[in-house]
Formats: sequence, C-alpha cells, structure tokens
Amino acid sequence: MAGNKTFTMIKPDAVKAGHIGAILAKINEAGFRIAAMKLTKLSPEKAGEFYEVHKERPFYQELVDFMSSGPIVAAILEKDNAVEDFRTLIGATDPSKAAPGTIRALFATSIGENAIHGADSDENAQREGSFHFAATEMF
Ligand code: UDP
Ligand code: MG
Repeated sequence: MAGNKTFTMIKPDAVKAGHIGAILAKINEAGFRIAAMKLTKLSPEKAGEFYEVHKERPFYQELVDFMSSGPIVAAILEKDNAVEDFRTLIGATDPSKAAPGTIRALFATSIGENAIHGADSDENAQREGSFHFAATEMF
C-alpha cells in the first residue's frame, strides 16, 4: 500500500444501529474507492492486538470489549491523500467536538462508541490493512 490508501472499520455501535449503508454512501461521495471490504467480528484477543498501541491507556479494556462486542465492517480505501482526508471526513474522536457533517458528528454516540475508525498514518494504514486482509483480498 502506498500513501494513497487508508484503513477503516465501521464499529459495532454503527453496524448495530443500521448505519452501514449511510456511512458507505458518505465514503463514496467523498471520492474514496473501496480496495478491500468485509463484515467480520473481532475476538477479544484480535481486538486487543489491533489496539495494542493503546494498551497503557485507561480506556483500553473498555475499547477491546466494545470492539469485540459485535460485527464490524473492515475496509481499505483509496484516494489521493487518503489518511488525512479520511480523518477529516470522520471528524474528531469525541463526537461532541466533531465538525458538523462528519461521520462521527452524524453517527457516533460517545467518545468510546464513535461509529468509525480511521488510520492515523500511512504506516498504520498499511499495518492495519494487512492485519485484516490477505493479499488476495485487496484490489
Ligand atoms: N477511546 C475511548 N476513550 C477515550 C479515547 C479513545 O474509548 O478517551 C476509544 C475510541 O473508540 C477511539 C479509540 O479509543 O476511537 C482509539 O483512540 P484514538 O485516540 O486513537 O482516537 P481515534 O484515532 O479513533 O480518533
Ligand atoms: Mg487512533
């Protein structure tokens, strides 16, 4: 993956609430191409591994429990400046601080249950994409 790809997950809260279609529409309208996508569920072990970077943070266990609580949509998205533009599209971590019209402003309910993940660097986008997808599942 080069600098034109990012990785996302539609989180269990948004899947449960029936927002997959609306969120994918926003992603489409913003000009991202879907390079990989699946509906899947993380085990607590896999969620813990994915968020290993946050292991020392006070919200780690809560985050792992939440992210393994139900199905998610994992996807690799392609666009120029993908990582930065996607972070702009999803908005701030805390939905009360997310800009109007962003995915988190529209669909998140709290700082923990915030509807969607977006990779924060090209390096992490690559790592997170490979964590979820085999080479034969990326197009
Ligand atoms: N999170 C949380 N409490 C916090 C901060 C973060 O539960 O105080 C959760 C939230 O789901 C967030 C994830 O941990 O999306 C990862 O945190 P990060 O700071 O990386 O935010 P993001 O990159 O997702 O905006
Ligand atoms: Mg992050």
